[in-house]
Amino acid sequence: MTCWQILFLFKFPSGQIGYLGPLLAGFVVCPPWVWLAVQTKQCLQVITSRSIPFTKRKIWLIKILALIVGAGNVWGILAEIGTPWFLAMVPAGIVAYFSLGEDVSEIVPPKPIQDPAVHQSAWREYWRLRDSYKRSGLGFVAAFILIILVRLVGAKLPESLQIGLFAICLVALFVSIAVMSFNQWKWLRWRCPRCGCSFRGAWGRLWLPKKCVYCGLPREEENAIRSPIS
Ligand SMILES: [Zn+2]
Repeated sequence: MTCWQILFLFKFPSGQIGYLGPLLAGFVVCPPWVWLAVQTKQCLQVITSRSIPFTKRKIWLIKILALIVGAGNVWGILAEIGTPWFLAMVPAGIVAYFSLGEDVSEIVPPKPIQDPAVHQSAWREYWRLRDSYKRSGLGFVAAFILIILVRLVGAKLPESLQIGLFAICLVALFVSIAVMSFNQWKWLRWRCPRCGCSFRGAWGRLWLPKKCVYCGLPREEENAIRSPIS
C-alpha cells in the first residue's frame, strides 16, 4: 500500500469535495518524494547538511524506493481525479526517466582542517549547542508547569480570561517544543572535528555516543580540551 493509498482512506465521504482531501495530501506527499527520486544526491545532501556519507549503492537503493513512492503517487493522484490510466502513466514515466538518468556519485562530507585550534572551536560549538538545547528544555518545562497552574488557579477567573490564558500557554508550549526540537536536531547533527561526519551517525541515538560513529574519535577529547580552559 503506497502513502497515497493510506492517505486516500482519510478522504471525505463522497461527491466532488471527496477529491479535496486526497488531492491536498497528494500535493504535500508527492513533491518531496519526486525530488528525492529525481535528484537523490542533492536531496540527501540538503536533508543531512552534508554530514552523512553515502555510497553509490546506498544512493541507488534510496532512489529506487523514492521512485516507487513518488511515481506511484503521481500516477495515483491522476488516476483518482479521472485521468485514464495510460495517460496517468505519462507523468509517472517522466519522473522515472529523469530519476534513472541522474549521474549518481558517492557523497563524502568535507573533512575539516586538522589543527588543535579547529578541534577546540568545534568542541566549543558542541557545548554551545548542548547548552542552548538544555535552555530550550527548561523553556518547555516552564510552559508545561504554567499550563497546569492555569488549569488549577484559573477556575476562579472569568471564562473568557481562562480561555485566553490557556490559549497563550498552549502557544508557548508549541513554540517551546519547536525550538527544543530544532536545537536538539542541530546539537545531534554536530560534525566530528576529525572526519567531518555527523558524530552520532545517520539514524543516531538520542544522546551523543562515546565516540564518533565514523572515525572513532573519543568524546574524552571534549574533556581533555575543556579542562585547561575552565
Ligand atoms: Zn569522526
